[in-house]
Amino acid sequence: MVPAGPAGGTGGVPSVSGRTGAVPEVTGLRGAGGPPAEPPVADPGPQAAARGRVYDVPTMTDPRPAERTTPLATPPAPGTSAPLPLDRLGRRMHDLRISVTDRCNFRCSYCMPAEVFGRDYAFLPRRQILTYEEIARLAHLFVAVGVEKLRITGGEPTVRHDLPDLVRMLAAIDGVRDLTLTTNGSALRRLAGPLADAGLRRITVSLDSLDDEVFRRMNGVDFPVGRVLDGIAAAVQAGLAPVKVNMVVRRGVNEDSVLPVARWARDAGLILRFIEFMDVGQTNGWRMDEVVPQAEILARIDAAMPLEALPATYAGEVAGRFRYRDGSGEVGVIASVTQPFCRACTRARLSAEGELYTCLFAAGGTDLKTPLRAGATDDELSERIRAVWTIRADRYSELRAAGTADRPRVEMFAIGG
Ligand code: SAM
Repeated sequence: MVPAGPAGGTGGVPSVSGRTGAVPEVTGLRGAGGPPAEPPVADPGPQAAARGRVYDVPTMTDPRPAERTTPLATPPAPGTSAPLPLDRLGRRMHDLRISVTDRCNFRCSYCMPAEVFGRDYAFLPRRQILTYEEIARLAHLFVAVGVEKLRITGGEPTVRHDLPDLVRMLAAIDGVRDLTLTTNGSALRRLAGPLADAGLRRITVSLDSLDDEVFRRMNGVDFPVGRVLDGIAAAVQAGLAPVKVNMVVRRGVNEDSVLPVARWARDAGLILRFIEFMDVGQTNGWRMDEVVPQAEILARIDAAMPLEALPATYAGEVAGRFRYRDGSGEVGVIASVTQPFCRACTRARLSAEGELYTCLFAAGGTDLKTPLRAGATDDELSERIRAVWTIRADRYSELRAAGTADRPRVEMFAIGG
């Protein structure tokens, strides 16, 4: 049972359970609350740049000579004879984030601001988006080159039809040790059960405030926080475990929500990760002074609920972890701005249109869809994936301070958070 948030906060904190009243539907945005509509085919023009489809711009590479920290290759993947590829900084490919759509029913100002992504925005036409069969075929190949963890994301993955079908296909791949999904939680009441039945093991839900007023403003479509809390409760009931909660903290917007969300998540037994507001994409108006640094997030919590640092549970863990001194749980911070973790980054990203990205902050990706649809064999596609990984030297966050601000960057919703 997920407890309701503390009563009496600004704007009131809705309960996550027992909601029976009619809740207004989100309206006014294409794709809101339902399957993605087919937009007209149009010359995407500057929108393509906003989405990151800048094919001619090379993926950002390290201007300095790459140091190798580990041997050139690791032992063969089970069932294959080829060694797993390592990138130029000695990092293996361990996680694959799969964006199943570039559409979202929210318009969070830090990700897909409504002013830029309005009614006329040309999202990808359906035929340009990988089918579930295509995604599953590529996922197989990624697993063969070392990937053990798959995360389905977007855009908002739950706006795509029949998502449990994809989960079923991915869950059946030998070698997948972890299969999860990141969602805004808006459709979980309906989908949590079918997703769990299809083989989803755990889930991450984004929740930026318990304060309904703040939450409605941040999601840009006036979506009530109560429905997301109800979605989280549905995920818990469906047996998805653990349920993790992500909260992006932006100064002047929701930093006062840090402590209430921390308290609520601790009481609910949910794993909470705060995320520093990042300079992904080029449309969210990112400014350093809007980043609430990890140190400040922790200080806000520590003042009320004393914390101590925990060691990483595995090499490359993204979140810094801290436990409540009274033993009542833990909290994490993904401090990609103030404490970059590029050296340990083992993540690849597959965009909805089938491009492979090797960094969240990349300007462009490598097209896998065209060869796939042109009849490339598994070996040919695998070779392409290996080649991209082997030349990878991305470490954007570490170089951020060194004048990277003006580089073109793909939007996060295009390649998945
Ligand atoms: N729609 C899904 C959701 O809301 O979780 C999945 C996609 S969303 C891009 C994935 C995650 O990225 C969310 O937790 C979101 O809060 C986070 N995110 C998006 N833009 C961000 C930014 N500029 N800085 C930090 N996190 C961001």
